[in-house]
Amino acid sequence: MSKKIALVTGGTRGIGAAISKYLEKHDFHVVANYHSNDEAAETFKAETGVDIAKFDVSNFAQVQEKVAEIIAQHGTIHVLVNNAGITKDGFMHKMDEESWDAVIDTNLKSAFNTTRAVMNKMREQEFGRIINISSINAQKGQIGQTNYCAAKAGLIGLTKALALEGARKNITANVICPGYIETDMTGAIQPEILNEIIKSIPAGRMGKPDEIGALVSYLASDDASYTTGAVFSVNGGQYRA
Ligand code: NDP
Repeated sequence: MSKKIALVTGGTRGIGAAISKYLEKHDFHVVANYHSNDEAAETFKAETGVDIAKFDVSNFAQVQEKVAEIIAQHGTIHVLVNNAGITKDGFMHKMDEESWDAVIDTNLKSAFNTTRAVMNKMREQEFGRIINISSINAQKGQIGQTNYCAAKAGLIGLTKALALEGARKNITANVICPGYIETDMTGAIQPEILNEIIKSIPAGRMGKPDEIGALVSYLASDDASYTTGAVFSVNGGQYRA
């Protein structure tokens, strides 16, 4: 049987890279999207053999064009993982419009852009797995992240509505809320602040990208066909949603 095709946005670094590797290991053919870090993407491709695709998930027209190319090349997309994300932190009273828009467009509108591009194909083939990567901060709030928390909470609502729309066509939609995971994103947090955060994690440590990859590969599998509209917390017990 031919391999199922999976598109992972932001799939060449951090959590996305772990997701791409897990899906490849579980017999999917993965296309890992990225935005601008060519060096990291080329290194990832050389090390793993995973296909890469450069486009900006926040740009509707670009996403439609690039996803159509991927579908033309591979025949379809079975699994979509909306993982690409950025932070542009700042208190509300100081936040500029660009920081608000960039985070909403990259972390939330992106899921509309990509899902819209794959949905008709998934409906036609009566199979789809959509897995959105939200955040613990969507569940509990985080100072300095009104833009990020709004976008990531929006992903939870989007996922629940999508689950209702897709259920009769065997298209599942689920959302994962990771806690603090060891990646470049959390590497940018000041060490003193990060140490304080780690103290508040019952597991006593940050999570590893593979601990998200493993759950994504389950949700993408045939075994997860009755799991839809669900929100999964993976946070070492830091927040019990
Ligand atoms: P990283 O910063 O390590 O990697 C982000 C990835 O997203 C990169 O591949 C990057 O591409 C890609 N990306 C960013 N903007 C765009 C864009 N406009 N179009 C396409 N790709 C883009 O992030 P993490 O691995 O830490 O995070 C992955 C996801 O998990 C994010 O959505 C994040 O919000 C979420 N998350 C992370 C947590 C953590 O603790 N790390 C906790 C909770 C949620 P490029 O390499 O080209 O820059």
